[in-house]
Amino acid sequence: MQTKVLFIVKTSFVYGTLAFLFSMVGLSLPSTVTYVVGSPLEVSGISVEHIVGHIVFGLMVSALSLNLRYFILGGIFPIVLDADHLIQFFNFEMVPRMAHSIAFGFLASFVLLMFFGKRDYRLGSIAFAAMLAHISFDILLGGKTAFPLLTPFVVEPLTFQGYDWIVIEIIAIAIVGICTLITKIQARKKLFV
Ligand SMILES: [Zn+2]
Repeated sequence: MQTKVLFIVKTSFVYGTLAFLFSMVGLSLPSTVTYVVGSPLEVSGISVEHIVGHIVFGLMVSALSLNLRYFILGGIFPIVLDADHLIQFFNFEMVPRMAHSIAFGFLASFVLLMFFGKRDYRLGSIAFAAMLAHISFDILLGGKTAFPLLTPFVVEPLTFQGYDWIVIEIIAIAIVGICTLITKIQARKKLFV
């Protein structure tokens, strides 16, 4: 029990720290896309429904892990991903929401697998899918909103709207589902070796 709680705390801490560190990449992008964003307390509209929404959308994805600790991580990762907003307090010229990107999803999966077990496919999939679940809810809540999804390869933010959130949430669910399936098949194979 204790090790499970420790695992959740450690992985969540690493995920949030990575989101913050990755936001610094946004300082180095061309001045055509950077600007002073302003305090996240003023510009980001933090509300109870925002937080609850992120947790629920994450849990819908991580439910397919069929495992309690990954399920819980699915609720936490989308919240700590917003650590990429903290850098806005410094009033630098930057691209906001850097962790709302595919590059961050891959980086987070890679680093977590390095630290916590290379064959933990479900952990890797949750790390990536939590990013998708997060932007899915941001689109639903914001109506029309933009993320640097393909940063740093495409520096301009991409705009999403309407029902885009459904497609993105379904992709997130599929990623975790497939990785759970792979994990189960491998576990079964081991039984027969
Ligand atoms: Zn967000």
